[in-house]
Amino acid sequence: MHVHVVGNACVDTTFRVGRFPAVGETLNAVASADGLGGKGANQAIAAARTGAAVTLWTALGKDAAGAWIRGRLGRELSDVRVNEFDLASDRSIIVIDASGENFIVSGVACSEAFDPISQTALARRIGPGGILVMQGNLPAAATNACLRAAQQSGARTILNASPIDEAALPDFDLVDMLVVNQSEAKALTGREDMAAAAGALAAKGAGTVVITLGGEGCLTLGPGQAGSVRLPAPRVEALDTSGAGDVFCGCLVGGISKGMSVTSSLKFALEAAAISVTRPGTLLSCPSASEMAALVD
Ligand code: ATP
Repeated sequence: MHVHVVGNACVDTTFRVGRFPAVGETLNAVASADGLGGKGANQAIAAARTGAAVTLWTALGKDAAGAWIRGRLGRELSDVRVNEFDLASDRSIIVIDASGENFIVSGVACSEAFDPISQTALARRIGPGGILVMQGNLPAAATNACLRAAQQSGARTILNASPIDEAALPDFDLVDMLVVNQSEAKALTGREDMAAAAGALAAKGAGTVVITLGGEGCLTLGPGQAGSVRLPAPRVEALDTSGAGDVFCGCLVGGISKGMSVTSSLKFALEAAAISVTRPGTLLSCPSASEMAALVD
């Protein structure tokens, strides 16, 4: 099954500082670096490293950052379709202090401009047998338009509703598989208990519900299933969990696209995400294609 990820791609610029600046203060960073980011890009790349056939549909500005992002995506993905805008490409500024605390500011003009009409046209090309994967970065209207078009064309739809905008949520009826983390599950349902939250998300219309539980693994509730099932994560020494959710989603999608059962795909995603948390970085920590292959063997 071909995987179509419709989502954001951006430049993550990380500044390491000894301490955060005071308001109005200018501070020199100890180190700085640009990296490829965006949940759409991260999940597409993780899925591609599982060996899945992946197309990433994304939105970039006609600027140097857009050209840089294209170049980086091209190293990882054989098929990238870009909607270009006369806007600044999306970018996140991540400032990390000596204790590891961070703050992040994101420019999201291209994601916000990603046009529902052209997205719908793109999603219609997915067709039966394909999988559409989306995240929470695009406007809800755009996300719904894509999900609806994909569902009408017979494709399977997977939504990682992250980040969530509670004022403009996607329509869960359009989602065959919903993936959220614990804080998203709580925010969406008001439930502290994750089994109850999964039930409430299923009642909102989502098909299979998957709630990731950090170091505790994940919980899943399939359509028509009486109760949810917990799957543990491998016990590892976690160094940096950033990006673990994207590795998990990309590998879950990759497994499903290759015909693995949902349970086997979840176990594979748990193994891959556990590797990623033992290493620093977001995309940098994602297992390589050969590491992914070794997990499936
Ligand atoms: P992030 O925002 O850090 O990318 P998230 O908040 O979206 O992640 P989590 O539930 O924290 O989602 O983590 C996603 C998955 O990553 C978990 O389901 C698990 O498989 C793996 N994971 C996260 N933390 C650990 C850990 N300490 N040990 C092993 N696996 C982990």
